[in-house]
Amino acid sequence: MKLIFATHNQNKLTEIKSQLPNNIEILSLQDLSFNQEIPEPYHTLEENAAIKANTIFNCFKETCFSDDTGLFVPALNGIPGVKSARYSGPKATPENNMDKLLKALENITDRKAYFQTTIALKTAAEIKYFTGKVHGTIALGKKGNGGFGYDPIFIPDNYTKSFAELPLEIKQKIGHRGKAIRSLITYIKSHKFQ
Ligand code: IMP
Repeated sequence: MKLIFATHNQNKLTEIKSQLPNNIEILSLQDLSFNQEIPEPYHTLEENAAIKANTIFNCFKETCFSDDTGLFVPALNGIPGVKSARYSGPKATPENNMDKLLKALENITDRKAYFQTTIALKTAAEIKYFTGKVHGTIALGKKGNGGFGYDPIFIPDNYTKSFAELPLEIKQKIGHRGKAIRSLITYIKSHKFQ
């Protein structure tokens, strides 16, 4: 079976591909030569995931899914949250975003945070959502070279290393995207799609 993953993000692609059974082939937007950025204008992960999945489904008429992720810091009222990608401005880089978050938490002792991923699966018949969450804390500085995005400053609960220091297998096992993708796989296995 073929499934389109509506992303340009190679890191997300690697994380998700490595967890899928062999009978599911993933086509990325790069494979389909779809080079446009799809806007994410909404205030929930669900709506932003849906617009990506719907846009690609309408274009290719094939079952597809998308993922939207945010890093939520309760002591900052959930910021950066749904706006995680452009937290430090329209041209934000992961470095700028992490620097801004570390600065925002400079005088705050409650450094609890969580990642949440919402996957939207769009088929001809319906749109379904799958979520995954991982709780942890924001480190005092960046640590590690692995992962991507905010991984160097996120330390999952029960670990002392950041997601950028831990092996990818651990991130997949305990992480937000891994949990969401496993729910998606369970659903796919129990349903037939055209
Ligand atoms: P989006 O899901 O691509 O919109 O990602 C939102 C923001 O969260 C971007 O800045 C990503 O780099 C970041 N992000 C998404 N997934 C992860 C992750 O697994 N680890 C760290 N940062 C992530």
